[in-house]
Amino acid sequence: MPGISPQKGIHISMATAARTLTSVPILDLKAQYNTIREEVRVAIDSVLEKQHFILGPEVKALEKEIAAYCGTKYAVGVASGTDALILGLRACGVGPGDEVIVPSFTFIATADAVSALGAKPVFAEIERRTFNMATESVKRLITPRTRAIVPVHLYGQCADMEPLLELAETHNLKIVEDTAQAIGATCHGRRAAAMGDAGCISFFPSKNLGGYGDGGMVVTSSEEVFNHLLSLRSHGSIRKYFSEEQGWNSRLDELQAAILRVKLGHLEQWNRQRRAAAGLYDQILQDTVPEAEIPGRNGLGEHVFHQYTVRVADRDQVQKRLAESGVTTMVYYPTPIHLQPIYSSLGYHPGDLPVTEAACRQALSLPMFPEITVEQIEYVCAALRQAVKG
Ligand SMILES: *Cc1c(COP(=O)(O)O)cnc(C)c1O
Repeated sequence: MPGISPQKGIHISMATAARTLTSVPILDLKAQYNTIREEVRVAIDSVLEKQHFILGPEVKALEKEIAAYCGTKYAVGVASGTDALILGLRACGVGPGDEVIVPSFTFIATADAVSALGAKPVFAEIERRTFNMATESVKRLITPRTRAIVPVHLYGQCADMEPLLELAETHNLKIVEDTAQAIGATCHGRRAAAMGDAGCISFFPSKNLGGYGDGGMVVTSSEEVFNHLLSLRSHGSIRKYFSEEQGWNSRLDELQAAILRVKLGHLEQWNRQRRAAAGLYDQILQDTVPEAEIPGRNGLGEHVFHQYTVRVADRDQVQKRLAESGVTTMVYYPTPIHLQPIYSSLGYHPGDLPVTEAACRQALSLPMFPEITVEQIEYVCAALRQAVKG
């Protein structure tokens, strides 16, 4: 069994790590494929034998399984996480002229899905410790034009949903959860994606539940939203060749669904392995690299560590030195969305969202995947210790 067993104790042996490794990737999809190769091949073969590729039995079965996993009544497979956001927002009534409150510290898709519908993204500030959207900031941005709020469960940790749900209730707003990075995470015992009016999941290959190509899903417990989604993913038609509104061609295909069904069976174990890896990072970094601030936990539920993201001063230099030691890291995200050229017409300026802008300068995501070994984590931490010292 590769990866760190969450059950067994963790033994630290810095000396061995330094001797045996020369590099650590940020993500190792091959290590995961090696553990499921046979299962995946059988699943792919069965689709090829059936020759049914679009909206067949595998997609239907996966929709059922994802809905059950998240704890919603319904799920609708679509072509990507971005499409899940676009269709999810549309199905919740977002359209031209509406305002939608989103964080600025997220992947661009969270905001450009709003713009794609002719609506206007309004950027909220984040909490310093968790990098997730701050309720107080959201509160100040609500106007009569606000239609929805999109909390992003960044890096695999749920945003603080209770106060957001209360706000939505008070102001009659929809909540569409961007769950691209957090399938399996919980908040007060409820699963990410199942708390709002719709939850949007990405199956991009690097996500915690990643396919072997693009894919996404919207989950909901509203029958109305569900029916609207079915129409929106097929050209706005409820029945064949009879369209009622502008829709899309946005479908999850059978091959991806078959692969994802195999992988869903392992997701809980993989998320446990990610948590064990994060726990080891915490322990070593706190003991040996106090210059790196470990990821803050909000204590509301289970984190699924899509990323393990620290804060460091002089981040770009640290990243460069880590690369020289063979450690691949990523910056999610270097430029806040409110300051990107796409939204220059909205009139934001540097300093408008200082907590977000600081996160963009300091955040550094370290190697994280379920199969990461104790030795690899030790190597990364040793390299980080060197890197922060200059
Ligand atoms: C990956 C991601 C998306 C988009 O998902 P795709 O499947 O790549 O379209 C949206 N939001 C966040 C926060 C993401 O990380």
